[in-house]
Amino acid sequence: MIYDVIIIGAGASGLLCASKIKGQVLVLDSNQTAGAKVLVSGGGKCNFSNKNISVDNYYSISGMEKIKGILSNWELKDVFALLKKYKIDYFDKGDGKLFAKDSKLILSALLSECKFNNVKFNFGVNILDIKKSENLWIVEVEKQKLHAKNIVIATGGKSYSRLGASDFGLKIAKKFGLKLVQNQPALVGLKYPNELRFLSNLSGVSLPVKIKIKDKIFDDNLLFAHYGITGPAVLNTSLYVDVGDVVVIDFIPQNSFRTIPYRVQKTFMDYFSCSDKKKLISKLKNFHFDYVSTFGYEKAEVMRGGVSLAFVNDNLESIKDKGLFFIGEVLDATGQLGGYNLHFAFASANLCAKALNHSIYR
Ligand SMILES: Cc1cc2nc3c(=O)[nH]c(=O)nc-3n(C[C@H](O)[C@H](O)[C@H](O)COP(=O)(O)OP(=O)(O)OC[C@H]3O[C@@H](n4cnc5c(N)ncnc54)[C@H](O)[C@@H]3O)c2cc1C
Repeated sequence: MIYDVIIIGAGASGLLCASKIKGQVLVLDSNQTAGAKVLVSGGGKCNFSNKNISVDNYYSISGMEKIKGILSNWELKDVFALLKKYKIDYFDKGDGKLFAKDSKLILSALLSECKFNNVKFNFGVNILDIKKSENLWIVEVEKQKLHAKNIVIATGGKSYSRLGASDFGLKIAKKFGLKLVQNQPALVGLKYPNELRFLSNLSGVSLPVKIKIKDKIFDDNLLFAHYGITGPAVLNTSLYVDVGDVVVIDFIPQNSFRTIPYRVQKTFMDYFSCSDKKKLISKLKNFHFDYVSTFGYEKAEVMRGGVSLAFVNDNLESIKDKGLFFIGEVLDATGQLGGYNLHFAFASANLCAKALNHSIYR
C-alpha cells in the first residue's frame, strides 16, 4: 500500500496536520500513546495559544519573516472553532495566555478530528531509516517497509526525552542535506555562576523582577532554586541568552526596598557587605551576572534552533527534495512562554496540510 502521507510524530503538530489532510494518512510514533507533551503542557491545563500572537514573540536565526507567513495559517478564530466544536472551556489568565480546563480535552479533540478523518496510527514504532526511491518515500521500521508519496517530520524538539523526545527529525534533515541551526535548551532555568552560588540559600523564594537580555526586557516573576534561577522572567530570558552574554536583573522594579522579602534583603546585604539602603538599591536595580549554562534539556520546555527555515520553502517542504516536510518544534522557530509554541506547532501543521491537499488533488 502506498500512503499519500506518512507523518512521523503524533504530537501537537503531527495530530493537527493528520486531521486536516484529505488523503490516506499514516502517523507513526515511538511512544505508546499520542501527545505526551500536550498532556503535560501548561501544568496539565495546556496553554494552547495566546491572544497576542505576533512574530515578536518568537526567536529564529534563519527566518523571522517566514514565521510571519506560517503564523497567518492558524488564527484565534481557528482555535476557538475547535474549542467550540468539542465544548472545551478555556480561560485567559488575564495576560492573554489561553488555557484549557484540562490538557486531556485538547488532546482528545485532536484525536477525534483524526478519527473523523480516518487517520491510521502505529504506536511504539522504532523507525530505522527514511529513504527516497524515485518519487516514493520508504520508511524502514522493524521487519517492514512503509511507502508514501510524502513524508512529514513532526518529531518535535529534544527537551524532555522521558516523554519520547528525540533528535530524529534533526538527523533526517541532515541526511537529506538541510542546514541545522545549532540547538540549545530554552524556556529553562539558568544555573548560578560560581560567584552566585550563595543565592541557593534563597531556594523557594519568588519575587517580581525585570530582566534585561540583549534588547529584550522581561517583567515577571523570578524563583530562586537550588542550582540557579527560574520562574517566567528567567524562562523567557533563556530563549535569547548566548554564551558570553551578561544578564541584568532589576530586583526592585517597584523601586521600594521594602517590597522585597527580608530574606532577600539580608542575603544581598551580606553579599555586598553593605547596609546602606541607597547603595543596595542601586546595586539591586542593576544586578549583573555572566551567563554560564541552563538547567539542560531534561528541564527545558523547548529546543531553540533546529531545521533552518531557509532550507524549507513557504509550504515547509524541503528545498532539496519534493515531498519532505518539516513542522512544529523541529524547525528553527521558538516561541516565548505563553502558548506560542503550541500555536506555532498548529500553524505550521495547518499550512503543511493545505500544501499537501493541493499536491494530492492536483
Ligand atoms: C513540560 C512542558 C510544558 C509545556 N507547556 C507548554 C504550554 O503550555 N504551551 C505551549 O505553547 N507549549 C508548551 N510546551 C512546548 C510544546 O509542548 C511543544 O512546543 C509542542 O508540543 C511541539 O509540538 P510538536 O508537534 O513539534 O512536537 P511534540 O508535541 O513534542 O510531538 C513530537 C512527537 O514525535 C514523537 N517522536 C519523537 N521522536 C520520534 C522518533 N524517533 N520516532 C517516532 N516518533 C518520535 C514523540 O513521541 C512525540 O509524540 C511545553 C513543553 C513541555 C516539555
